[in-house]
Amino acid sequence: MKLRFLGSAASESIPAIWCECPNCRKAMELGGKNIRRRTSYLIEDHTLVDFGPDANWQMKEFRIDPAKIRRILMTHSHIDHFNPVDLLWRNGEFSRPGRRIGFYANARILSELDRRVREGQMGESAHSLQLDPVEPVPGVPIQDAELTILPVRAAHAPGECALNYLLKNRDESRILIANDTGWWPPESWELLRWRPLEVAVIEISMGIRMPYAEERGTHLGARAAIAFRDKLAELGAVTASTRVVVTHISHHIGVTHEELEEYFKPYGIAVGYDGLELGR
Ligand SMILES: [Zn+2]
Ligand SMILES: [Zn+2]
Ligand SMILES: [Zn+2]
Repeated sequence: MKLRFLGSAASESIPAIWCECPNCRKAMELGGKNIRRRTSYLIEDHTLVDFGPDANWQMKEFRIDPAKIRRILMTHSHIDHFNPVDLLWRNGEFSRPGRRIGFYANARILSELDRRVREGQMGESAHSLQLDPVEPVPGVPIQDAELTILPVRAAHAPGECALNYLLKNRDESRILIANDTGWWPPESWELLRWRPLEVAVIEISMGIRMPYAEERGTHLGARAAIAFRDKLAELGAVTASTRVVVTHISHHIGVTHEELEEYFKPYGIAVGYDGLELGR
């Protein structure tokens, strides 16, 4: 299953436009993999994961054909992952979308989207945007055409049901998208038992400088991400052939892409960047 990184940054992006920290300055100077849009992914050519403030730019930059998109999977409502502006234009008066698409999102996002539709006088609800809303239930698989979607509850965004996704294709290859993550509750780990992954994507928002204990809050840091990978290995989900990639990188991390790669190399973990393509 093909996975493309459309963005690999945490909320402010890198460089963060209002930030004068040395890391943002350096990222601007170095360019390339140090320039990061907000976290989002494309699976094959038919599924988007998250729709944040850079969605419009990402669709154009990566030449994504919107006519091929069948569904959007939303992780949670934080504004770096959910920005409804370019969903609202799916209202038939402003654009002419070719088909209805699935919109998988928690209750917080669905009600916020409905509110924005009404406020913009674009109809009554997400249905007016030619979206078919589905509220995923953690642990309950959904079959949507060729894709099996298993929603996994994350330990993130108190007050809403933040989701990670285990995705399986017809060819039985599995991809785990684990951002924004935190240290999962026991029932989430169980969903990964004996489910070998082709690719595991894990967040490292908190970087490589924070003490281990603090990294196990609602975000993971580098050492917690390594422990997360090890736990997936214990469960039989990460195997010798799994590509493990870290992403959702904050400018607060204080190091460049190349330095992050050096840090993770001994652990056999790759560092995500915008445009990275993985999978068969
Ligand atoms: Zn985030
Ligand atoms: Zn900065
Ligand atoms: Zn978040």
